[in-house]
Amino acid sequence: MSTFDFSDRLQKLPPYLFAKIDELKWEVIQQGHDVIDLGVGDPDLPTPDHIIDRLAEEAKKPENHRYPAYTGSMDFREAISDYYSERHGVTVDAATEVITLIGSKEGIGHFPVAFLNPSDVVLVPNPAYPVYEAGTILAGGDVVFMSLLRENGFLPHPEFIEPAVLERTKILWINYPNNPTAATAPVEFFEKVVALAGEYNFIVAHDAAYSEVSYEGYRAPSLLQVEGAMEVGIEFGSLSKTYNMTGWRVAYATGNKKLIAGLGKVKQNMDSGAFQALQYAGIEALKGPQDCVNATNEVYRERRDILVEGLKNAGWDVNVPKAAFYLWIPVPEGYTSSEVSSRLITEAHVIATPGNGFGSYGEGYIRLTLTAPTEQIKEAVRRISRVSF
Ligand SMILES: *Cc1c(COP(=O)(O)O)cnc(C)c1O
Repeated sequence: MSTFDFSDRLQKLPPYLFAKIDELKWEVIQQGHDVIDLGVGDPDLPTPDHIIDRLAEEAKKPENHRYPAYTGSMDFREAISDYYSERHGVTVDAATEVITLIGSKEGIGHFPVAFLNPSDVVLVPNPAYPVYEAGTILAGGDVVFMSLLRENGFLPHPEFIEPAVLERTKILWINYPNNPTAATAPVEFFEKVVALAGEYNFIVAHDAAYSEVSYEGYRAPSLLQVEGAMEVGIEFGSLSKTYNMTGWRVAYATGNKKLIAGLGKVKQNMDSGAFQALQYAGIEALKGPQDCVNATNEVYRERRDILVEGLKNAGWDVNVPKAAFYLWIPVPEGYTSSEVSSRLITEAHVIATPGNGFGSYGEGYIRLTLTAPTEQIKEAVRRISRVSF
């Protein structure tokens, strides 16, 4: 009999809440039904050809086969720096204020290790992408949740957290455009958070994975464009969602020098950087033609409109998101998130993620993604409309 217990930290990780949905999904597939998966937020459209071609070209160069610099290639970091100045009017020094990541999930997961001491608090939105909480627990910090409520536009109010907790706070996580709620944040929100961080001396970590996924002219602001943000802030960005490159693992963090250096020091001891050929393909993505981004967003917009209109006609209460590729939908009265997800799987063969899987404040919602082929989205509308709640 093995006596190896998982570490206390590993045991403290929240339970996996999608097990029941996975089980139901498997049953329905076993019964031979054709399942439409609107559960997973992962682009179905192809990576644009010019990016793939550049990878093929760079992968043939022996100099790209060696260990990369753990902080990333200077060329890739310069491409990020150029992107910040052109897109946001923000100057970041490629050498000291930008680092390449093996996907932003990697950086988000590792970042707390660089700055947390036992009993330091990390403020984590709820509902949220699970890595903010997991990274905090694995680094030995204490999670304090900030509720994201519909009546507040799914923006947290850290200024109402007890001063004693704010005194112990080391990192505050935010994420706009938001997963799972699809909410966006105005620049004034970033200003408020940066001011609070200055007052209590904590780090503002902004996850901007959906910065370029937006509709009808909406352009998401950067945390770093706010005055004072470079003193307290770090922003995580990724090519994954913008260029349909989730499996490639190329991303970056940029912001305050000390914060980038801390993350770099952790990475230096944990990994050896991103494959150089990938970083060159990433430069191609950032510097090449951007009409592919508009075309992708246009596909999501069409799907969004089909899904929103179809669900509204069927009596659901749906908001039209300006950004990200999710619909965050209140469940019909009298039902829980899990009940609604379960019934959609068994009766409509459509996978919807129950909102409580993203945290307790996600209870009462389901999340649908726009990352399935348009024909499937249309079919999902027909099937969901036939389920009566
Ligand atoms: C998809 C996603 C990421 C991770 O992106 P990678 O760069 O592929 O690791 C980070 N944050 C949020 C909120 C996401 O939805």
